[in-house]
Amino acid sequence: GERHPSIPLPKDLFAPERRNSEGVDLQDKDTLAGVASAIASSPLPLAGGAGGGQVPNPSANGKAVPSPNPSRKREGEMVARAQAAYPAWTARPVHERAACLERLADLLEQHRTELMAVCVHEARKTIPDALAEVREAVDFCRYYAEQARGYLVPIELPGPTGERNVLRHEGRGVWATIAPWNFPLAIFLGQTVAALVAGNAVIAKPAPQTPRIAARAVELAHQAGIPEDVLILAPGGPDVGAALVADPRVAGVAFTGSTATARKIARELLANENRPLVPLIAETGGVNAMIVDSTALAEQVVQDVVTSSFRSAGQRCSALRLLLLQEEIAESTLEMLSGAMDTLIIGDPADPATDVGPVIDRQAYDNLMGRREAMRNSWIKTIDVPAEGNFVPPTTIRLRSMDDLDREWFGPLLHVATWRAGDLERTISHVNGKGFGLTMGLHSRIARSAETVEALARVGNLYVNRSMIGAIVGSQPFGGEGFSGTGPKAGGPHYLPRFCAERVTSTDT
Ligand code: GLU
Repeated sequence: GERHPSIPLPKDLFAPERRNSEGVDLQDKDTLAGVASAIASSPLPLAGGAGGGQVPNPSANGKAVPSPNPSRKREGEMVARAQAAYPAWTARPVHERAACLERLADLLEQHRTELMAVCVHEARKTIPDALAEVREAVDFCRYYAEQARGYLVPIELPGPTGERNVLRHEGRGVWATIAPWNFPLAIFLGQTVAALVAGNAVIAKPAPQTPRIAARAVELAHQAGIPEDVLILAPGGPDVGAALVADPRVAGVAFTGSTATARKIARELLANENRPLVPLIAETGGVNAMIVDSTALAEQVVQDVVTSSFRSAGQRCSALRLLLLQEEIAESTLEMLSGAMDTLIIGDPADPATDVGPVIDRQAYDNLMGRREAMRNSWIKTIDVPAEGNFVPPTTIRLRSMDDLDREWFGPLLHVATWRAGDLERTISHVNGKGFGLTMGLHSRIARSAETVEALARVGNLYVNRSMIGAIVGSQPFGGEGFSGTGPKAGGPHYLPRFCAERVTSTDT
């Protein structure tokens, strides 16, 4: 047939370090042993349900986290306190605010083992995921500190008419940041420190499932020099988020979570006629597809599919949901995939050997198990899991057509469909047609196919011949479009300015 330039095979395909896309040092035995012992000696119940009620703070001082049972009055007082603290904070030189973030990064590293243990207990993260979580939080602090120093300084603009023009980035006021439970430290802090370093005060609401890790992060942030009223923790459920969003003094909202909640927030921000127009930065879900053609390297495909769909029990926005195999290789790939799934270790996340832990809570479990059961006749492969706990069996499900999946299932369920040779463009347009635009994967050795997908795919993050999760701060700015979010991308060069007011002064000289 026709000759196309091809993409060379990676030389070190099976080197373990290559697979650790987040730079997770799984060889670091001291880290793993330290975390395992911190977990073993922790008084927290491993099997306990997450969230709700008065929870013990795992930090040494034994202080309790406020019970998530707030009144609107409480949120109103928080906003008032933050507003009063804002002027002094925003007047601080940007390098001082950046230095607070760097001190926080140092503290996070110093407390890495403890933070990992809380992530394992509270969010049921595996140990490698907990390590990646702390590293990403550190990366966000350092990256935004550096970005702020470089770009949130006055910028001289051309003055062709003899005027002096200066662009400044300044704080907007009090932001509300609303975080998800799936990255209860990294995303919770990432949104928050971005708003802070940009010169804003912040009221930070963690997910109700993960208040403890957030409380610890805020304590460390205060220790790092961020004043207590400049960063206020607001634990609780949707009522707390709703009260904050509805407060007309809130000058911006950064949210990571579901598309439906993002839409509610957007509506609320516009509901009050007398309220200023304020920005919403939303990062939401995806129906993320991986397209595999017949030139792909099967072993690599299978490894990347397993990582992308089942690591973190599929509880990442970026995770692979829809595997699209070229017909010719579908059966052989699925057979290899079944074999690879048999090697997954499902169990207690506190055990360093575990690949896949339970999902976050009973509600998520029931929801995912409902879908899985409804698709029983279409199972390609499922594997056994422990009976006790919220373990959803990793399962692959065959679809008659790729059009039969139009929503996100946030767990270890992988839907599979096939496509015909020659139909690459149509396949991409079907995926685009779902309206989400977060991640997409391509496995192919044909350079022209990679170019086609790059040109046509309307996604924020395209991954070619690798897994689709584990975006690295500063290298792989993360975030999507369409139903997947508003942008700007977290961990990217355009994130901070969106938290700022841009002001230009033109002076006659
Ligand atoms: N940034 C994460 C990744 O690349 C996903 C973030 C999310 O799930 O919200 O895997």
